[in-house]
Amino acid sequence: MIDVRLATVSKRFDTSSDAAAVDNVTITIGAGEFFTLLGPSGCGKTTTLRMVAGFYFPTSGHIHFGDDDVTRWSPNKRDTGMVFQNYALFPHMSVAQNVAYGLKVRRVPRADRARRVEEALAQVHLTGYGDRRIDALSGGQQQRVALARALVIRPRTLLLDEPLSNLDAKLREETRTEIRRIQRESGITSLYVTHDQAEAMAMSDRIAVMQSGRVQQVGTPHEVYYTPANAFVARFIGRSNVLSLPVVSARETRVEVRLPGGATLDVGAAVGHRLAEGDTALVSARPEHITIAGPDEESALRGRISHIEFTGMATHLSVDVDGTDVMAAVIDAPVGIQLGDVVGLRLVPERLWVVQP
Ligand code: ATP
Repeated sequence: MIDVRLATVSKRFDTSSDAAAVDNVTITIGAGEFFTLLGPSGCGKTTTLRMVAGFYFPTSGHIHFGDDDVTRWSPNKRDTGMVFQNYALFPHMSVAQNVAYGLKVRRVPRADRARRVEEALAQVHLTGYGDRRIDALSGGQQQRVALARALVIRPRTLLLDEPLSNLDAKLREETRTEIRRIQRESGITSLYVTHDQAEAMAMSDRIAVMQSGRVQQVGTPHEVYYTPANAFVARFIGRSNVLSLPVVSARETRVEVRLPGGATLDVGAAVGHRLAEGDTALVSARPEHITIAGPDEESALRGRISHIEFTGMATHLSVDVDGTDVMAAVIDAPVGIQLGDVVGLRLVPERLWVVQP
């Protein structure tokens, strides 16, 4: 097992323009870790992955696989297994021939080939499928063949670029569980690219959230969800209200803010925040950390319900608080709650978090 390190990696496709597709990215993917690049379309995820694969060379910066500086190595020398959105299988070949392809290229003897293909098919739970035609398989099965083909060469790293995008919702969820199981069992250091935050949260050991070529935050799913670094991360991961609130006092990791109703609240903040009395803090509040106050309760925020969505697990409400829409997700919403009702909102202070602009 090896780690993969990107040090101040940048990629400019057009040297005449100022904008870098990937801008000064420094990340370390631990040995055996499942690490995800997450961000909206065009943020530079695929370009970063392609530099790790060796399809593009960085304009500046370095990439290490363990002790090897692979920055200028060709793709075939890097020993990476790749899985793509479109599977990239050979439709006229059988499952076994597809999986064996990388071994043939590497001149692995025929007898070893057959055994390793069997092993790889067993790994992805496709034992007995070797003779099937690719076009006789479902999308989910095809993607597992692609995974077996990547794993059979026993790569040092596994690189996956939106591998679930062509699958329907139910199959996506099943296949993501399957990919993670296989990755855990094989222990291969893996880099995964997706724009789907739920997928990233469900699968990853750690996530790098990217925007405009830059890494906005690296953290575990818990860290990026509960302590987002900035307003972009707060809004991109799940849903979040980002409230602008005046600061009453500030300490190292806590900031006291004043709510529109006049009450004050102590909320969490990262070490190194620069807020002081009189500043305005941006406070991220997840919808599930805002609930409806009881009728006799003094509530921090009051507003009129402007939208109601029942999702089964919770009722999602938009509440207009002095012209600002505040999203709340309420389990067991009061019976008879209606559009236009005026409600008080209660915030769960332990879960509120100061973010950077
Ligand atoms: P998507 O999910 O849409 O693929 P992404 O986050 O993977 O997006 P990239 O494909 O890495 O983003 O693209 C980052 C930026 O680099 C974009 O502005 C894109 O237009 C540009 N870009 C990507 N590949 C090339 C290329 N081969 N030549 C020129 N510009 C490119």
